[in-house]
Amino acid sequence: MNKIEQLAQDVGFDCMGTCSARDLVARPEVRAMCAAGKCQVYDHSWACPPACGELEDFQQQMNAYEHCLVVQTVGEMEDDFDFETMEEAGNLQKQRVLDLVEALDAAGLSADTMTLSAGTCTLCKECTYPDEPCRFPDKRLVSMEAAGLVVSEVCELADIPYNHGPQTIAYSGCVLYN
Ligand code: SF4
Repeated sequence: MNKIEQLAQDVGFDCMGTCSARDLVARPEVRAMCAAGKCQVYDHSWACPPACGELEDFQQQMNAYEHCLVVQTVGEMEDDFDFETMEEAGNLQKQRVLDLVEALDAAGLSADTMTLSAGTCTLCKECTYPDEPCRFPDKRLVSMEAAGLVVSEVCELADIPYNHGPQTIAYSGCVLYN
């Protein structure tokens, strides 16, 4: 286990896997899904499209890395309508990814990594977009989807489940490094 995997394990992710960052593809279809407003944050956050940046730039940034560590939080739901667990697991994943970024920073590794989260940025109760600049431009994280990644595809590359079975909910993020 390398240093980055060790830090992620210490943070407490439920499932982790690695793949080659060279296999990551920023797909226009994912951006099209964002633009279709499925998650209702398109054009509502500095951390989401279109404000977060062009797909080509994400592809270029990802191309600069060799390895990708996928990190997941998995929630066990009481039934298919257990929205409380879904929300809790989503929030826990966001916190864990932020903790990982902090740990990478403390280890002097954050400048050499690229971290993608799950879902939109929720650092502020209400995003300042588009009227004011982002309050935490150095801290906000873009999601894997906003970077154009098909999360299920990346999980498959990393040899971990995207779906952990009936009545579970999994949220994924990743760290790219050399
Ligand atoms: S840090 Fe705040 S202002 Fe910036 S993207 Fe996140 S929610 Fe919006």
